[in-house]
Amino acid sequence: MAEIEIGRHLYRFPGGLKLRHHKQIACRDPLTPAPLPERLWLPLVQHQGPAGECRVQPGDRVVGGQPLTRARSDREVPIHAPTSGVVEDLRDGPVSWPPGGTAPCLVLAPDGEDRFEALDTPDDWAAESPDALIERLRAGGLAGLGGAAFPTAAKLRGGFPPIRALILNGSECEPYISCDEMLMRSRPEAIVEGARILTRATGAEEVVIAIEDQMGEVRKRLNEAIRTVDPDAPIRVVQVTTVYPEGGEKQLIQVLTGLEVPHDGLPQDLGLVCLNVATAAAARDILFDGRPVIERIVTVSGPGIVHPRNLVVRLGTPIADLVAAAGGPTGDLDRLVLGGPMSGLPLASDRIPITKGSNCILALRPEDTARTQPVMPCINCGECIRVCPASLLPQMLYKHLVADDFDAAQALNLFDCIECGCCAHVCPSHIPLVDQYRHGKGVLRERGVEDARAARAKARFEAREERLAEREAERRRKREARERRLKDTGGAKSEVQAAIERARARKDAGDGEDDG
Ligand code: SF4
Ligand code: SF4
Repeated sequence: MAEIEIGRHLYRFPGGLKLRHHKQIACRDPLTPAPLPERLWLPLVQHQGPAGECRVQPGDRVVGGQPLTRARSDREVPIHAPTSGVVEDLRDGPVSWPPGGTAPCLVLAPDGEDRFEALDTPDDWAAESPDALIERLRAGGLAGLGGAAFPTAAKLRGGFPPIRALILNGSECEPYISCDEMLMRSRPEAIVEGARILTRATGAEEVVIAIEDQMGEVRKRLNEAIRTVDPDAPIRVVQVTTVYPEGGEKQLIQVLTGLEVPHDGLPQDLGLVCLNVATAAAARDILFDGRPVIERIVTVSGPGIVHPRNLVVRLGTPIADLVAAAGGPTGDLDRLVLGGPMSGLPLASDRIPITKGSNCILALRPEDTARTQPVMPCINCGECIRVCPASLLPQMLYKHLVADDFDAAQALNLFDCIECGCCAHVCPSHIPLVDQYRHGKGVLRERGVEDARAARAKARFEAREERLAEREAERRRKREARERRLKDTGGAKSEVQAAIERARARKDAGDGEDDG
């Protein structure tokens, strides 16, 4: 694989928008823990993939850190008790997706003692094999904490080509969201230690931590942490220009390398793995402290909240409790959104709990939302195409989807849409484009299209692996043949040499006889 330069030069991805970031309003106060709620609601699935096997039942007493489910494959991610208490129930509770939907949740009543039992940790993590490290991360419930909640073990252990570099994504480019910035300011050492663990787990030769150019002292803190933790570690901090949505995995890779992750492909195809900075810190907590993923930082912000701030929140905490912990809503709150104003999901209920992928709760007033604007017909202005970072045809996708022509939308690469919301943001007709894309993807997923897509990508990887293995075997065969030839030639030489020496000896002996 050709050598890829990462972050030495910066490139641009297509489309995108320059937005006001509104981040500082939630960064004025230091990070504070959110109070424990009366009940924690823990969806069995908090990641992209199937649920693990449930290991508790109503009435069980649990301690913090105790596994509540067990993963039977890398696609499953266990959940753990965020605190000590009693499992009261296993029943459907509200979740953020699909809108108004429910999913099976364990209901945990905290006992107020907050007892915790650490997972087993290695004496020397650096002596563990990559597979053993990945196993520990899986057992600790690690999923991408940037928002997508993809199972980390599946990302790290994919049978891919060798991983050359690890990119830690700290460029949370969506307005208002500042949980990663707060983490990088408050726990930079944890990120660097996590980066070292993930380097060993992936075999990566270097790590690039990507941050935004408007993140003030974050760069300095990360560089200090690198010097403190391991000045020789191949870890660099790179600042990228704040353009939305450069925090998207494919967009960030393009900015740092100039390369496009192929359609239907993965960053691993380029020898890269991209993880969120919070995922790296959580990897450190699992390996060093035996602390599984039971909490995360959540930004609670927006013009509809009294005291915007970042809180350390136990998973399962209902959103209503966080809104209260941030001073409550302003009088004119119109809508709560999970995520940022561009790609976030409007919430049907404030009883929805925080899960591993919940990075921000945004409170918006009527004037902050486009909902008040009437939806007009498409005027084919092409603005949505201009800003699409995935080089799609948003208006055509929309047209097919409203006509229920899901196959046509899929043929236009609907699954390449990262739901960034740029198209809807600039649409002069206020068409809710992204809602339609989410709906279309949901329908196609139910039809198993994405599984087929993943299977195609996997088959391609395997074919590539096979080709590489064949090439390597051919090289080895040639090398061995060459070595054999050399050996044979060397052997022949020594025989010739021996014959010469024998002849000399005979001659010497004959000469003696003549002399006598
Ligand atoms: S921006 Fe809106 S109106 Fe313009 S082409 Fe796209 S969908 Fe149509
Ligand atoms: S939401 Fe999808 S279609 Fe719209 S701009 Fe973003 S990637 Fe393109």
